[in-house]
Amino acid sequence: MRKIIDLRSDTVTKPTPAMRRAMAEAEVGDDVFGEDPTVNKLQEYAAQLFGREAALFVPSGTMGNQIAIKVHTQPGDEVIVEEASHIFNSEMAMMSAFAGVLPRPIPSERGFLRWEQIERAIRPNVYYYAQTRLICLENTHNLKGGGVYPLEWAREIVENAHQRGLAVHLDGARIFNAALATGRSVKEITEGFDSVMFCLSKGLGAPAGSMLVGSREFIEKARRVRKMLGGGMRQVGVLAAAGLYALEHHVARLAEDHKNAQLLAEALQEIPEVHLEPVETNIVIFELSTIPAEKLIDELKQRDILALAIGPRRIRLVTHLDVSREDVLYAAQAIREILKQ
Ligand SMILES: *Cc1c(COP(=O)(O)O)cnc(C)c1O
Repeated sequence: MRKIIDLRSDTVTKPTPAMRRAMAEAEVGDDVFGEDPTVNKLQEYAAQLFGREAALFVPSGTMGNQIAIKVHTQPGDEVIVEEASHIFNSEMAMMSAFAGVLPRPIPSERGFLRWEQIERAIRPNVYYYAQTRLICLENTHNLKGGGVYPLEWAREIVENAHQRGLAVHLDGARIFNAALATGRSVKEITEGFDSVMFCLSKGLGAPAGSMLVGSREFIEKARRVRKMLGGGMRQVGVLAAAGLYALEHHVARLAEDHKNAQLLAEALQEIPEVHLEPVETNIVIFELSTIPAEKLIDELKQRDILALAIGPRRIRLVTHLDVSREDVLYAAQAIREILKQ
């Protein structure tokens, strides 16, 4: 039997044998007491990679983002988000339910806001207006195709926001993909952000876990909020070991995922029924002109290929650790054949 080619998301990666060994051999302790040596090592390493004072291991990216929002705001504040962002669309209404804040979504073409758009959305200091407190950006942008935030745009936002007394959080679930695509370090492309969340559980291949990085003061508050949410874990070094292994061994190989995504894009580009969006990292998004997305997905499933519908005619394919060059070529060929029928 052929293996299943799972292109739905880079979250589907399974720990490699070497990663499992690192997990099995991890030194552990009670992390609620701050005594898990592997968690501590991971947090120190993450802080150092991002040039920050401290870092915190969290169970999921969603929890990391929501902790950051809670720490940066007070109930009744407004938070500026991009309309297609993960924070606004895929984290329930947690910023309202938990932090008690109001999201102010702003639409954009590729998921990236400019300072001018943000500036127009900041609430004037009038006593009956909710006050803008925080801006959340996303890099790479998931639902708009894995594009990389233009560095100058992000820097301009961070600088101006700080001048206006606003905090800026970065949802950097796939920040290592962004760094690789631009040939810069994560430290360089996240400089100035008040907090950054990134995922170990996506293309980096760990089974679970995300990180928050920021100032020591921010991380101390974040640890308390993590506990409120029930995210204080005990001998969690077994998971942190996977994260450490991922940071040490799986960052450079993201280049393969980007190459495979390009290969897939080139093959799809030649199919007339496919309208491909620009591909910058490991996410490939296209629209179908002739059949519904679900129809193509059903047909692909019969050929052991899994894809995700993100709209009535929109499909997302993601390359990752468990997808090879042969797999993407096979998938592109299958799409071509199905659409020809
Ligand atoms: C995956 C993802 C997250 C976090 O997701 P979890 O499933 O909660 O780990 C946050 N932001 C973006 C852009 C993502 O793609």
